[in-house]
Amino acid sequence: MIVGIDLGTTHSLVGVFRDGAPVLIPNALGDLLTPSAVSVDDHGHMLVGLAARERAGTHADRTALAFKRWMGSDKLIELAGRGYRAEELSALVLKALKADAEAFLGEPVTEAVITVPAYFNEAQRRATRSAGELAGFKVERLLNEPTAAGLAYGLQERPDHASFLVFDLGGGTFDVSVLEYFDGVVEVRASAGDTRLGGEDFTRVVAELFARACPELAAAGAEPLRDRWWAERGWWRMAEQGKRTLGEREEAALEMVWNGQTLAATLRRVDYDAACTELLQRLRRPIERALADAQIDPSGLAEVVLVGGATRMPAIRQLATRLFHRLPLRTVDPDLAIAQGAAVQAGLKARDAALDEVVLTDVMPYSLGIVTVEEIAGRRVGDRFSPIIERNTPVPVSRMQHYSTVAEAQRQILIDVRQGESPMASDNLRLGTLEIEVPAAPAGQVGVRVRFSYDANGLLEVDAQATDARGALGELRNLLLRTGGTEMDEAALKAARERLAGLKHHPRDEQENRWLIERAKRLYADHLGDERRVIQAWLAAFELALDSQEPRTVRAARSALREQLDSIDRGFRF
Ligand code: ADP
Ligand code: MG
Repeated sequence: MIVGIDLGTTHSLVGVFRDGAPVLIPNALGDLLTPSAVSVDDHGHMLVGLAARERAGTHADRTALAFKRWMGSDKLIELAGRGYRAEELSALVLKALKADAEAFLGEPVTEAVITVPAYFNEAQRRATRSAGELAGFKVERLLNEPTAAGLAYGLQERPDHASFLVFDLGGGTFDVSVLEYFDGVVEVRASAGDTRLGGEDFTRVVAELFARACPELAAAGAEPLRDRWWAERGWWRMAEQGKRTLGEREEAALEMVWNGQTLAATLRRVDYDAACTELLQRLRRPIERALADAQIDPSGLAEVVLVGGATRMPAIRQLATRLFHRLPLRTVDPDLAIAQGAAVQAGLKARDAALDEVVLTDVMPYSLGIVTVEEIAGRRVGDRFSPIIERNTPVPVSRMQHYSTVAEAQRQILIDVRQGESPMASDNLRLGTLEIEVPAAPAGQVGVRVRFSYDANGLLEVDAQATDARGALGELRNLLLRTGGTEMDEAALKAARERLAGLKHHPRDEQENRWLIERAKRLYADHLGDERRVIQAWLAAFELALDSQEPRTVRAARSALREQLDSIDRGFRF
C-alpha cells in the first residue's frame, strides 16, 4: 500500500487514495493533523505529536519542534543531552504516521509519496528521502507541495494551459508557486517565498499586543520571544488562541497566569489588523517574483488557491482578494490540501485507473551550474558562476554547454558543480567535482563539453568530455550526484538506522494517555495554589487507574481526566 504524506514544519498528515478519492487518516488521538514534534520522556521513551508538543514549554531541553528547517544541514538538535539530525527526528514523525496508517488500513504500509517545498535544494530533498527510509518506507517519490495542492484542487481536470497560483502560508514559512497544466502534465512554472514568515509571526503580534495591554508584563521587561520562557508561561498558547478568535470575532478576551497572578486583556480586531500591516506587506514581494518568473500577470491565472493553516485568517483572504482581483479558492480545507494531493499522487503511483492519464513534472527549484574563470578587460576573474540548468526549468531536463581553457598549455579542467543563485560561485552550494584531462594547447583551443541531466527525483548526472575544434577527445567522464555536501552517506544512514531502532517508543494505544498526562503537567506548571492541588489529585487518580491495567477502568479514567482538564483548559489542541 502506498500512502501520501505531507511532512510539514508545524503539522504532518498521511492519506491514501481509495475508491477514486483521497482519504486522510486520523492518528491515535483521532486528529488528522499530527504536530511535527518529538520529545524524550524521563525514561528515555520517545513521544511524537501532540504529547510531545505539550512538553515544549515544560521540557524545552527534551523537545524538538520545527526541525524541518534544518533538513539537509549538519546541525545536531539536542534532546536530553543527545544530538539528532533533522532527518532522524523527521523519521520519528514518519514512523508514527506509518503506524497510524497501518492501524487504519489493517495492512502493512511500505511505500510513500512525501511532499517537499518547491524550493528545497538537493541536500534537503535527499534528507527527506533519508528520513523516509529511516522510518522504513520505500520513498516512491518526492512531490512538490504546490503540485500536491494543485492535484487536491483537480488542476489536472482543467482545460489545457490553465495556470494556478498556490499561496501557502504555514506555521513558519510562506511559499508562492505558479503551476500550469498542459497536455496531461502539471508544471511548477515558478516558486518564490519567504522562509522566515508564517503564522507564528502573527501569533507573536497578538502576544505583543497583550503585553502592551498588561503593564505588569511590560514592567517586568517580559518579551514574547520564541524561547523557553514564553512557552512556559502559556503565553504562546494564549496568543495562538487569541489569533484564532480574532479571525472569527471583533474582540478576544485573553487571560494568562503569570507569576501567580491572572493577567487579562481584551484585544480588538482593528488593532490586531493594524499591527499586522507590516507582515501583510511582506507577503507581496514573493508573489510579485513568482508572477514575474512565470511571466504571467494576475489576470492570466485561472485560479488562486490558498493552502496552509494561516490562510484561515480573514486578513490573508482579503489581501489575496485585493492582489488578484478575485476570490481565492478555499473549498479544500487549507490544512489538508497538500496531504490530499499527496494521496492523489500515491493513487496515481499505485496505477489506479481513475488517475492514469496524469503525468507530473516539476521544476528545478535552484539553478545548477559550474565555477568558471572569465577574461574580462584583459584580466582573469575567477569565482564566476555559469548556470547550465536555470531555476524554474521543468524537469526532467538535459542541457549541454561548452567551456574552453583560459591558460596556455592547461592540462586540466576542474568541473566544480554548484547550486544556487549567486553570480559568485563560492556563495552557491558545492555538489561535487570532476577533473578532466585535456591535451596541452594554446589557451582557448581545447575545452570541455559538459552535460547536466536532472530527473524528478533530484538526481543530477554530470557528463563531461574534452573537446577541440574537430570534436570530442578522450573518454566521456560521468558523475552521479546523489550526495550533496551535507547529507548522510550510506554509513551514516546505517548508523542512524541502528540508533533509531534502539529507541523506545510508546505503543500507539497509549498515545492518548501520554497526551493527557503531559497536558496535565503543562496545566500544573501554568497554575498555582489550589488549582495545582486539584490537578495533582486528578493526575494521581488517573495514574492509579493506569496501574490497574484494567482496560475498562483505564477508559473511564481517561474520559474523566479529559473532561477535568477541558474544564480548565477549554480543550484547545494545538
Ligand atoms: P506547516 O505547513 O508549517 O506545517 P500548517 O499549514 O499546519 O503549517 O499551518 C500552521 C499555522 O496555521 C500555524 O501558525 C497556526 O497558528 C495557523 N492556523 C491554523 N488554524 C488557524 C486559524 N483558524 N486562524 C489563524 N491561524 C491558524
Ligand atoms: Mg505546509
